[in-house]
Amino acid sequence: MLSDLKLVIRLQELDSRVGELEAEVAALPRHIAEIQKKLVSHERKLEADRAALAANQKERKQREGEIQAQEQKISKLKDQMLQVKTNDQYRAFQNEIDFCQQEIHKFEDRILELMSESEPLDRAVKVAEEALKAEKVEVEAEAQTARERTDKDRRALDELRKERGAIAVQVTKPTYQRYERSRRTRKGIAVAEAVDGRCTACQMSMRQQFLQDLRKGEQIMVCESCQRILFYNPPVPVEDLDGAATSAAPR
Ligand SMILES: [Zn+2]
Repeated sequence: MLSDLKLVIRLQELDSRVGELEAEVAALPRHIAEIQKKLVSHERKLEADRAALAANQKERKQREGEIQAQEQKISKLKDQMLQVKTNDQYRAFQNEIDFCQQEIHKFEDRILELMSESEPLDRAVKVAEEALKAEKVEVEAEAQTARERTDKDRRALDELRKERGAIAVQVTKPTYQRYERSRRTRKGIAVAEAVDGRCTACQMSMRQQFLQDLRKGEQIMVCESCQRILFYNPPVPVEDLDGAATSAAPR
């Protein structure tokens, strides 16, 4: 196989791997931001439930205080009633006491309502607190894993770029330019294998003559349809498979 061809095949492997790693490095912070956003929304929900519970308890205390005030008022009215002289006065006091008792009933009803509301809130807060604790641990662990993964990816990228640089300078200029042009215009894939008379990248069938020339492997040839650099891998004969390391297809 032409040395240029071997080199661009390797370049393609390296560039594809670089592309994958770069995509991963870019995706990891997005993933972490997403799970952190979810955590924050759960924290907000918990805060809202806690606030609702606090408001509930505050109102309950307030209503209890109001009941107490009404009870004190009633006992004062009852004291004053002992000194009344006329039936009208008596009735007036009695009316006032009745009114206070009605108020007390209203407050008691409201307290019952508040109690029935506070039970599910209280449960929700406790459940959410537990869940949030677990979620925080999980998010931190995932963020740590992502940081480690990113570091590892960056080191691998450095290595790949170093190797790429060393290979790129060995490729003849026209082949390199052809490679780079195809890589830019063909979504990063500049080199394609020919299998069963077809370009495996664009699936276009090749003319017989074209295929014969490609098999000879004497020149860099590009797919007539997608312009990618083509290579042809003859099947490896069975007797050569023992020495796989030396005779295996370069891909
Ligand atoms: Zn093609």
